[in-house]
Order: sequence, then C-alpha cells, then structure tokens
Amino acid sequence: MDQPRAAAEAAVEPDSEPAGAAASDDGAARQAAAIDALARAIEALGAPLSPAPAVRGAPPALRVPERGRPLAEAAAELAREVLPRAARSDHPRFFAFIPSPASAASRLGDALTAAFNPQAGAWRQAEGPAAIEAALIRWMANAAGFPESAGGLFMGGGSAANLTAVVAARDAKLHPEKRMDGTVYVSAETHSSVLRALAVAGFLPGQIRRVALDEAFRMDADDLARLVEADLAAGRRPFLVVATAGTTNVGAVDPLDRIAAVCARRGLWLHVDGAFGASALLSPARRALLKGVEFADSLSWDAHKWLFQTYGCGALIVRDQRRLEQAFRVETDYLRDGDLPGAAPNFWDLGLETSRPARALKLWLTLQTMGSEAAGAAVEHGFRLAEWAEDEIRRTPGWRLVTPASMAIVTFRMDDVACSAEQADALTLEAGRRLERSGFAFVGATRVEGRAALRICALHPDATEQDMRETVRRLAAEARASQRELAR
Ligand SMILES: *Cc1c(COP(=O)(O)O)cnc(C)c1O
Repeated sequence: MDQPRAAAEAAVEPDSEPAGAAASDDGAARQAAAIDALARAIEALGAPLSPAPAVRGAPPALRVPERGRPLAEAAAELAREVLPRAARSDHPRFFAFIPSPASAASRLGDALTAAFNPQAGAWRQAEGPAAIEAALIRWMANAAGFPESAGGLFMGGGSAANLTAVVAARDAKLHPEKRMDGTVYVSAETHSSVLRALAVAGFLPGQIRRVALDEAFRMDADDLARLVEADLAAGRRPFLVVATAGTTNVGAVDPLDRIAAVCARRGLWLHVDGAFGASALLSPARRALLKGVEFADSLSWDAHKWLFQTYGCGALIVRDQRRLEQAFRVETDYLRDGDLPGAAPNFWDLGLETSRPARALKLWLTLQTMGSEAAGAAVEHGFRLAEWAEDEIRRTPGWRLVTPASMAIVTFRMDDVACSAEQADALTLEAGRRLERSGFAFVGATRVEGRAALRICALHPDATEQDMRETVRRLAAEARASQRELAR
C-alpha cells in the first residue's frame, strides 16, 4: 500500500484504536486514543519516496456533492488522490526553493492544535497557548540577543512578518503626514516579500533605494551610508533599512553590525529578514555569522524552514514590543472580553490577525522532544550538507562553483571549455530537470549575475554526505548524457 493511503487508513479505521478505548465513554481515554491514532498515522506516512510529486494533474473529485459521503471514504481519497499531487519539500533530497523538513513532533503538534482549535488571539481565551507563545518568543529574542523589552508573535511566515515589521517601523519613525518623504533601503537580493510589504504599506517605488552589493552579494554598508546622507541632504526622511540574514538566492548574510552602526547614527529602524537564516542563531558554531543582529529593531524568523515545522509557522521578534501595539492596536468594545487582568498584551493587538491559530504549540512540542542542543546540531548539519556539495562540485571536472556554501546554500554551473556560455547554461538547467524526473533529487534552478545556475538548499537532518556527493555526481552524469544526445 502506498504511504499516504496507509496513513489515512491508520487514522480513520475504527479497528486501529487501542483495545478498550473505543468502547469507553471516558473523554480522556477517547482523546488519548485519538492522539495515539494520529501519532501512528504520522508514523505510517514515513519518509517520502521521491521529492517530486508522485502524481500530476488535477484530482478527480473537485465538485462539492449535494449529499455527503462517509468520512473514511473521503479521507482515503484525500490521501490517495490529492496529497500525492504535491512535491515533498520534506524529502531529504528536496533541495529547491527552501525545503521544509518538518519533524514528526511538529506534524503531531499541528494536528493536536487543530483538534483542540484554541483561538490564540487573546490571553483570556487561551491562557495556555498564549503563555507558550510568549515563552517561545522570549526564547527566540534571547537567541538574537534582544533586551527585556523585546516581544513579538507567531504568524503565517516571513512574508507576513516582513509586512508587520514594515508597518511597525513606519509608525515608529514617520509622522503620518510625512509618510511620502520616507525612504527605505534594500538591496537587489532582498526578498520579494519585502518589496510587496512596502507597496502594501503605501510606499512608492521612488521611496525605495537599492544599496550596492559587494562581491559576495552582501549589502555594501559604505554605499548605504552614502545613500542615507544624500537623502538627508535632499530633505528626505530615511527611516528603514531591511538587511537580510541568509538571502534566499545564495545564502548571503549582510554585514549586520556595520549596517546597524549606520542605522544608529541616523536613527533608522533596522529590520533583519532572517525568515530563512535566523535559525543559524541556534548553532553555537555558526551564530557568529549573524553578529550585529542584537542591534536590530525587528527580526523575521521562519520556523517552517530551518526549524523543522509544518507550514504556517513564522515569527516576528521586535526589540520593543510596545512598537507593535502602537502600530496595530485598535480600540474596540467587543474584544475586551479577551483581556486577562495583569497579563501581557493580547496577540490580536500586536499584528494583523484577530482570530489566529496557536502556531507556537507545534514548535513547543518539537523543542520539548528535541531539546535546544539537538535543534542547534540539526541546524549545523544543514551548513555541512552544503559544504559537502561544494567539495564535490570542486572535484567535478567541467563544473564550477558560482557561490560557495553559505547558510546551507550553494550555487554552481557547468563550465565546459568545449561549449559556449549559452550551451553550458542550457546543459546546466537540463541536468537539473533530468535529475528531478529521475526522482532522485530536486535541485533548484536560478540565475546569478545573469547566468543560469543550479542551486542546492539543504536543510534536512536525515540527508547525508553521500546524498550530497551523489547528487552532484548524478547531475554531472545527466549533463554528459544530454550532451551526447545533442551531439547525435
Ligand atoms: C522564505 C523567505 C521569505 C518569505 O517567507 P514565507 O514564510 O515564505 O512567507 C522572506 N524572506 C526570506 C529571506 C525568505 O527566505
């Protein structure tokens, strides 16, 4: 039986409940049985067989029926016909985009959270989940070196966190009537979600400055200082710098300490987009790469990327939690029932969402079972995976590195003296597509400095040195095979 099918049946078949529990009227026993069935369903899911979708095309039953049908039948269809039509970004050799190697504990925590379905907007509505969210935000703020005043909240991901940060920075630094004078500093490698956030927050393209990059795709702090001074001299109001800790394309980390110094001199808000890279703070061996993050005013940090969570788990940490309340709290009469006297501010007063799921609980379950040391070691493993791939690329004739391993990302391309740049680009991309079709690994394609490149982003704790070396070898073999086919 295929894996999703087995999982669906483990979850819905009555005979999969432990003996005695089904017959009991005792609510606690029934809950325990349900949790047990869930845990076994997640186990039955097992490791995905291939990073590519197992099935393609639209699933059969798209129509909403007039009369319902049995849950077991529909659930089995969901598992058999719908879910296999999706890539497995949790496969150990899924290296495209940013993988999501979600842990079993996170899946179970997500399912349990959905089963109990707390409204995590307010302390009085959900004191347990709120306390856990506040404690994890504190833990993440401590990892970043933020002061006692820090706070924040969980949300859907880095895109939402970047938008929340832009709005907080705007309201902290710009008089509402002077918003059109404000200027923001990003780089060409800044994530697209930041540009979208700036547009949503009402900024026009002419208010956004692109700071130059150095040779390693990092924001040039000297150029930033020059642009800020020029804007000040022209009567503009520089107010926000968005630096990135781990760019999505090549894993570059902007020089946060030097950028922070420019911000401090002129009173600018420093937002660090660590949606991908902030988890490096958990690795004692690597956390120094982010030195200077402790001076940031806000930090985006996705747990559904490098912290082993299922999707919909990102956080925004701010240096001074009052800034979020100032930007997002709106007085109402009908929400005051959520106030718990003496408690911290309600999460629905700190961000965009009023009704919100308790996204922190699955991360809590993961960290309770792993412990922070193992979590840090699992993050460190991602760095090493990309370094093994880099080493293998260096040993592979006819291939070259485009950017070395950085924050678990490495980019490379074919560079055969016998072909033109166009041919080498085409062969590079074709090698990636062929490897994906083979089902062995899914390596991403990108462009770096105008040329095609393959991109490996490797985060999976179960991926091995052998996986990395074999992926590079197979890519080289696929490129040779397609070269031969073209020559015929
Ligand atoms: C992934 C990513 C984002 C967007 O985060 P989502 O969770 O996908 O919304 C933002 N910034 C960077 C650097 C990222 O890698």
